[in-house]
Amino acid sequence: MLRRSFMCAAAIFSLLAIGASEADSDHHRLCKGFVPPNDLRIPVGAKRNWAFMNATNGKGVTEAQYNTIVDRFERLYRDDFTKAGGTLIVNRLWESSLVGAFAGQKGDRWEIDMHGGLARHAAITPDGLALVICHEAGHHLGGAPKKRVAAWATNEGAADYYAALKCLRRIFAEDDNATIVADAAIDLNVKENCERQFTAPSDRLICQRTSMASASVGQFFADLFREPRPPAFGTPDPSVVEKIFDGHPKSQCRLDTYFNGSICHVDVSVALSNSDFREGSCVQPQDAVGFRPLCWFKP
Ligand SMILES: [Zn+2]
Repeated sequence: MLRRSFMCAAAIFSLLAIGASEADSDHHRLCKGFVPPNDLRIPVGAKRNWAFMNATNGKGVTEAQYNTIVDRFERLYRDDFTKAGGTLIVNRLWESSLVGAFAGQKGDRWEIDMHGGLARHAAITPDGLALVICHEAGHHLGGAPKKRVAAWATNEGAADYYAALKCLRRIFAEDDNATIVADAAIDLNVKENCERQFTAPSDRLICQRTSMASASVGQFFADLFREPRPPAFGTPDPSVVEKIFDGHPKSQCRLDTYFNGSICHVDVSVALSNSDFREGSCVQPQDAVGFRPLCWFKP
């Protein structure tokens, strides 16, 4: 466990010290996390006393739920990784207390580390955890824009966008979404947009369910960063960047990205591109909604 964390830290320091060209070589494992490194640790069996705001979205996921999500992800995505040139390796680190998830590439080993500490956080629901693994997949498969310091890696905002635009749609497609969504308190703004953007009932339901996953991780961000309230669907981040921001956007901006990805009308089967951000996604000015938010993206 310590060794793995150290590898991530060492890779980051190497990157800072030697610059991008060498950092991309096989000698350095780059770690793109779901959240920035943090001191929170949630060991197996921990009492739920870490939640700053007494998160009520969930109770964290069980080990069985964790394995079910990773199983499904591996089954659905193994071939996609192969086609893209890598071998998917998900490291199931349930015993780890670390609150994070990471992606890294070493040659054709395209890895995802899923730490149990994040899965056990009170704000994380099974759907929230699915979003987390989809974000990590997004670093590998999410297309442009890539990180300036690591050419293989889709940047943070784009990995979030990919998670909602492509990955969760496939993960959720196998479920009885009408039943799942029926009992949930779906934001009215979400409902209206999902109905406006999609005609197929199945698409509308997945759109709504993605908002449930987004609310889970939104609560998680707010808790982790001790923010006074979780991000909300009706209060988008108004900021506009002057150049693309590669790091982790602020909590509201990340929720906006999930929301926009979920309401983009482009079909899940239309792939994203490593060179042209327009392909497979919603873009301005053609699309009024569903594009990458300007709080991290500059077209
Ligand atoms: Zn990330």
